[in-house]
Amino acid sequence: MDPGKKGRLMRNPLTVCGKSYEEFYHAIERFHGWKAPGVVIGGFMVDLAQEHIGPGVEADAIVETTHCLPDAVQIFTPCTYGNGWMKVIDWDKFALTLYDKKTLEGARVWLDIEKIRRFPDIYHWYMRLVPKTELPLDVLLTSIEKTGRRMLSCAPVRVIQYQGKLKKGRIEVCFQCGEAYPARQGDRCLSCQGKGYYEFCTLTG
Ligand SMILES: [Zn+2]
Repeated sequence: MDPGKKGRLMRNPLTVCGKSYEEFYHAIERFHGWKAPGVVIGGFMVDLAQEHIGPGVEADAIVETTHCLPDAVQIFTPCTYGNGWMKVIDWDKFALTLYDKKTLEGARVWLDIEKIRRFPDIYHWYMRLVPKTELPLDVLLTSIEKTGRRMLSCAPVRVIQYQGKLKKGRIEVCFQCGEAYPARQGDRCLSCQGKGYYEFCTLTG
């Protein structure tokens, strides 16, 4: 890596995802409900990935955990779970990839455990080594803001799975419950096959 590039990666930007820090935190609170450390770190990750793929690229996203990180992508990029531009893989790894929809080339950014050993607050929080009472949120957030992208690593990647739109396929009406469901699930809906997440009950109170 040439020194110029290293300098650029190590220095914390004055803005995150094109926003001042105040706007950045405000956007997180409005969407996520509170300044969750994972979403704040996620904002720095999106910022770094966006810088690597460059402006004007229509990017899709793949997120490797269901915790916090999907919200950072949904706040700071046009990709959402519902529009299909963000895929979420439940690996519980703190990593994400933004990639060009057309070339499938992009950047994977991850919280680098080797790097965060030097930043004890962040390390202890991520590895769940201290109870929340011993590491107040404002202390942790200050550490995160000071550390910025120095806790992250980034690598160019080409996406080979999970890209593109999921096909919907043919729709049937379930003969048992009368609700519409995708035909590929079988002769009745998953719920009527006994794989549902609910049972009927009488509302109390
Ligand atoms: Zn059914």
